[in-house]
Amino acid sequence: MNIQTIIKNAVKRLELEGKLLTPDFYAEAFCKEATKAGFTTEDCSHLERFTTTLNKEFQNELKKYHIKNMPELARFLVSKLNRTSPSHCSNLLEAQNAFTKKVLQVVEMLHNKEASELARRSTDLLSREATPTEIDQYRQLWVNFTTTYDDTFLQKLKLFGDIDSSDLKKSIQNLKLDGSEKSLGTSELSVVASLLVASLVPSIASNIDDKIAQISQKIQENPSLLESSIIESEIKSAISLRIALDKQSVREMIESIDGVLDKLSLRLIEMIESSDNSTVEIQKIKKELEGYSESSEINFRDAHKKLYTVAVALEENTQALTKDLKKHSSEVSILSKKIEFLEQELERAREESKEDFLTKLYNKRALDEFANIKEGEFERYGHNFSIVFFDLDHFKSINDTYGHDAGDAVLAAFASILKHEARSVDIVGRFGGEEFVAILGETDTNGGVVFAEKLRQKVKKARFMYKDERIELTVSCGVSDRKSNASLHSLMKSADELVYKAKKNGRDRVEHK
Ligand code: GH3
Ligand code: MG
Ligand code: MG
Repeated sequence: MNIQTIIKNAVKRLELEGKLLTPDFYAEAFCKEATKAGFTTEDCSHLERFTTTLNKEFQNELKKYHIKNMPELARFLVSKLNRTSPSHCSNLLEAQNAFTKKVLQVVEMLHNKEASELARRSTDLLSREATPTEIDQYRQLWVNFTTTYDDTFLQKLKLFGDIDSSDLKKSIQNLKLDGSEKSLGTSELSVVASLLVASLVPSIASNIDDKIAQISQKIQENPSLLESSIIESEIKSAISLRIALDKQSVREMIESIDGVLDKLSLRLIEMIESSDNSTVEIQKIKKELEGYSESSEINFRDAHKKLYTVAVALEENTQALTKDLKKHSSEVSILSKKIEFLEQELERAREESKEDFLTKLYNKRALDEFANIKEGEFERYGHNFSIVFFDLDHFKSINDTYGHDAGDAVLAAFASILKHEARSVDIVGRFGGEEFVAILGETDTNGGVVFAEKLRQKVKKARFMYKDERIELTVSCGVSDRKSNASLHSLMKSADELVYKAKKNGRDRVEHK
């Protein structure tokens, strides 16, 4: 077979295999036909020669991937070069894994509960074969930890000494937490001792007790006694003694002042009753006060001075006053009659008022009137209406806990919610105490329940604030309409009983007929 036949056969082979006549395909087909015909050309054995120089593992791979020509071999080798050796990779991974575990163990030992827990869980994760997604989730947990980590709690320790947050161990060692380790120096103790002694001296009683004097001297001579526990009970009893002395002193002063005031007021009464000779009487009071000044054992000259000034002023004014009093006594009696009349007017006005003074809602009187009007409309035109009774829950305990003023503020706040939620045609008022009523025209029980429920939820969510304190409030409601009752009286009674039922069933709820 000659070369032309081999070329022809190669071209035919390509046709049969349906391949294009490219140089690569042609070279491949030519080599196959040449080999078949028993020819060996250098071009066709290139690949074989290179392949034999590679190691067995590579040769097997070449077979596996059907590498047939030089360009393919070149590509295979380039890709091999680009890839790191798998065994090298796994060694690296193992080393990194061991290293990460060690770091996590250290974090677990350090002093943060959340970090320790996360470190422990992360070590578990690395000990089993976790997926990249799981590892990524844990990475995110660490990111979360570092972004939310807050060490401002360390500020609290600042009270006891300097804090270096990068070296907590050293900071803790420096803290002045333990009195036994860092006791006060003698000079600091002397300062404390002199302060203590000064605080033992009675502030009102003039003479110091022997016992207090003794203990004061002891502390001053030896301030380090303050560190011993024996002195503690002595100081305690000296303090009680000091308080007792002061109390005794105050009592004596008050008794003495009382005596002076009693006498002064007796004289004043006598003087006013016999106002003709008042000047003489006041002279007497003056004399008497002068007498107290000499005889009094207790030094309260200031108080005495004031009383004396009062007496002098009285002396100057009483004469004019008594004259005036006599002259105006008839006018005064006319005025007092007028006042009496105005008081009666005020009382009547109060009785006729329709407004509740605290909440500015309608009061019981007005509510009764409106209910009667609604009743008339029902009887004449058959217009239905519903009544909602509200009773604030555990209101007594609000008063008991926060005070009566807070209770009043809550009542006013509840009233304003009630007013705000009601339509302009609805009638809302305070029935008394912590009980409120809504009269809803053209509304049946179902509508009334919707209104009561809305209000109940508003009240539960509302923030009743009194002097920075938040007061929780709930309300129990009873709803009934006129059509379901035989009379206005039984409607009111029914709404009231339904509130009672709401209380019995747990409060903060609406009951209806
Ligand atoms: P319950 O949940 O059973 O209704 O308990 P409660 O404490 O609300 O009911 P109770 O009837 O035992 O107490 C009502 C309290 O309301 C007692 C009373 O002192 C108080 N109260 C009544 N009127 C006023 C007021 O005008 N102002 C204030 N601050 N409290 C009031
Ligand atoms: Mg009540
Ligand atoms: Mg109540």
